[in-house]
Amino acid sequence: MSNELSFSNEIANVMYATHGNPIKDCLQCGTCSGTCPAVEFMDHTPRAIIGLINAGYRDEVLASNTFWSCASCYHCTVRCPAGIDIADMMYALKRYSMWKGQHQEGLIGPVFAQSFVKMIVDSGRSFEPLLAPTYIFKHGPRGLVQEAQTATGLMLKGRLPLLPKKIKGLKKFQNMVRRIIPIGEPS
Ligand code: SF4
Ligand code: SF4
Repeated sequence: MSNELSFSNEIANVMYATHGNPIKDCLQCGTCSGTCPAVEFMDHTPRAIIGLINAGYRDEVLASNTFWSCASCYHCTVRCPAGIDIADMMYALKRYSMWKGQHQEGLIGPVFAQSFVKMIVDSGRSFEPLLAPTYIFKHGPRGLVQEAQTATGLMLKGRLPLLPKKIKGLKKFQNMVRRIIPIGEPS
């Protein structure tokens, strides 16, 4: 018998770790899609993306913008009759996508997530000026002007340091993060 995990079980592992795979309990009722405020921005509805996961369509799922469009409102999670935490599944799909380095081109979500994870692993802290290039990348010169205005205002009020500070015990923190998921190797 093959020991290879199904795609559905891989996602469930990233999502629930020790609690089995509830994704397989999906009834395909469509309640999640009907309740989702972001569905019009998704190329596959939440119901469809779960169907694709359970059918093993890994490449189609990873090429979808659905989980990057999720607003994490949890409406689907509280209404799902099968008790599936769909919002958390969307997070699991993002983590899986980052881990495998596979995502739809041209989306800001994966670029932003990569920048954020690298920044957190390198310093243990969030430092907004390092995230600004992601926004500028998406919005061009208009984004640059907006970011510069916002950053100057925050610095003048002492709300934004000029340089990122690193946390104490950074090595331990980095080892902990690498145990959770093999992304964000420190430079
Ligand atoms: S609401 Fe739950 S059971 Fe219904 S399609 Fe969505 S995930 Fe499946
Ligand atoms: S958590 Fe995401 S998928 Fe679920 S209803 Fe909200 S936006 Fe839609």
